[in-house]
Amino acid sequence: NPAASTSPRDHLNPEQRAAVEYAGAAPLLVIAGAGSGKTNTLAHRVAHLVLGGADPAAILLLTFSRRAAVEMTRRVERILGAASDDPTLARAALAWAGTFHGIGARLLREYAERIGLGQNFTIHDREDSADLMNLVRHELGFSAKEKRFPTKQTCLAIYSRVVNTEAPLADVLKETFPWCAMWEDDLKALFGAYVTAKQRQGVLDYDDLLLYWAHMVSEPTLAAELGARFAHVLVDEYQDTNRLQASILKALKPEGQGLTVVGDDAQSIYAFRGATVRNILDFPQQFPQPAQVVTLERNYRSTQPILAASNAVIGLAAERFTKNLWSERAATQRPQLVTVHDEADQARYIVGQVLARREEGVRLKKQAVLFRAAHHSAPLELELTRRNVPFVKFGGLKFLEAAHVKDLLAVLRWAENPRDRVAGFRAVQLMPGIGPKSAARIVDLVEAANDPVVALADFQPPSSAGEAWATLPQLLGELRTRSAWPADIERARRWYAPHLDRKYEDAAIREADLLQMERIAASYPNRERFLTELTLDPPDATSDESGVPLLDEDYLILSTIHSAKGQEWDSVYLLNTVDGCIPSDLATGSSAEIEEERRLLYVAMTRAKDALHLITPQRFYVTQQAGGGDRHVYAQRTRFIPAAMLDSFEQAVWPVAGGGAAAGAVTAPPQAVIDIAARLRGMWN
Ligand code: ATP
Ligand code: MG
Repeated sequence: NPAASTSPRDHLNPEQRAAVEYAGAAPLLVIAGAGSGKTNTLAHRVAHLVLGGADPAAILLLTFSRRAAVEMTRRVERILGAASDDPTLARAALAWAGTFHGIGARLLREYAERIGLGQNFTIHDREDSADLMNLVRHELGFSAKEKRFPTKQTCLAIYSRVVNTEAPLADVLKETFPWCAMWEDDLKALFGAYVTAKQRQGVLDYDDLLLYWAHMVSEPTLAAELGARFAHVLVDEYQDTNRLQASILKALKPEGQGLTVVGDDAQSIYAFRGATVRNILDFPQQFPQPAQVVTLERNYRSTQPILAASNAVIGLAAERFTKNLWSERAATQRPQLVTVHDEADQARYIVGQVLARREEGVRLKKQAVLFRAAHHSAPLELELTRRNVPFVKFGGLKFLEAAHVKDLLAVLRWAENPRDRVAGFRAVQLMPGIGPKSAARIVDLVEAANDPVVALADFQPPSSAGEAWATLPQLLGELRTRSAWPADIERARRWYAPHLDRKYEDAAIREADLLQMERIAASYPNRERFLTELTLDPPDATSDESGVPLLDEDYLILSTIHSAKGQEWDSVYLLNTVDGCIPSDLATGSSAEIEEERRLLYVAMTRAKDALHLITPQRFYVTQQAGGGDRHVYAQRTRFIPAAMLDSFEQAVWPVAGGGAAAGAVTAPPQAVIDIAARLRGMWN
């Protein structure tokens, strides 16, 4: 309903309007369930502030993803456009809307000198950070010492958790990584060396963006300056922030005036990454004056039966602040709980449903398939491809994580900061005849040299490198001295083309990706902004957010539940609604983890507006970790929907027994058998 998103103020309900117009001295907290209009209210509040004369550049809007920031900015513009005849108002772009990490990067760039941080730092994504961790680990000889030393990813995860929770290493090990506790001393040494390496090379990892930002505002003059610069600070999805983020807000707005946070404790799903729901629960008491608290109870998104089922699921949560929601969207159709034989049938069922809805006029873009883990969608992707249904996947591997895209970015990043070893290491190995050994020598040379380009040109490459070597110093020289944007990226792409051909069989497809990247690059003002923002939050293949529509036709959305946060679709299909997938079998450790999985199911269900299908394959295949090949396991419906809750759902079996079942499909057990099995399971769930 487009009218809803552009709705003038008088369509807001009284609680929403109170939040929009609130002008008191205490901070404002909007805490409410899914689909109650929190994000919409935040957009209206921003528009209200601008209409009231606030300078858009003095509004800091923090969202969970860059996509959310772009959507919010557009929503604000639409509201302003509808509310005012002044066209300049509608174009009053919010300069400071983004994620904590993205905004942090921009502020650090701007204030680098004043906090003693070099101007041309580069930013490492998770993979780069893990690579650097690995380099350091090798230098310290930990990997050789004992094979069971934690992997580079685990090391990084532990490090990151310590930083984000501000908890001592020993506690983090004990609580979250008990199998690594025996390495505590070695990990301390490793993390120390990792930090030194980052400093020496002028690189920041994701966590540093928050750390340095927090450090910056721990300095009272800078904190006061920034606090004054941003008269209004507004945060969406506050339940998924961590302690560092809360401390940044506190430093910016010690009195709380001008600070608005919104969220839903029932949707906190990032504790596994160090977020803490205490931030939102304790918010009211964190300031000299207790926060103004607004709660919203009407849901505008989902039909009543969908909401009732979602309420039932979250109703069994151990702890919860937000109350049950109600909806005026009456409907007779309850959410479907569909039993299928296996994952192949699950895929066939979904594609059939999706296409049927499309026939009824629900575009593919208005439908989404959600799943707990990115690899769950593989059989569905096959089926969609087979049946020519276009789709786009959120979460999981992103465009910029593809090897060839990272190659090209490494070259640009190295030109930006020649001390960045991970970038250099990758870039020089694109040359023929250069392996890891030579690469390590080259980055050493470059790091030590006054002029990296001269050092490269003087380097005597192995004879196998041949003539090609000379093109590298030449490229680097041009990128460093005659940099022009976006021409740089075209220059680098042309340089890379012959190497791409050599490295990859499917070079033509990859070349097309790089051209795509060049088009995306053109929408950024300069190389540094491009590198920063893309590293922090790579666009998905659909990104018209960068001004470049990559896929203009209709497509189905595939998304992890985590990436689906804050969004909504007419029809939602949830894959593998079984124990072992949700809750994930990785998360059966503590009750806190199980509770987070329950909230995850709640988030998934509350994305649906009109139709919701939860699908339970009776068996699915798991890949054995230790080389044992695949095996199939029998699945049980998720424990979060116990037998007593089944009334909230429409139960179905597909394919219908005796009906035109797909060739080869095994007939599903009769309904009575399923019901009894469900009742039995209910006895011990
Ligand atoms: P989530 O918890 O999932 O992030 P939310 O609380 O942020 O949800 P929104 O996304 O802001 O909810 O709103 C959900 C839907 O309800 C949107 O389609 C929005 O346009 C609509 N909506 C919100 N408030 C109103 C209103 N007062 N009148 C009509 N529609 C509304
Ligand atoms: Mg929202």
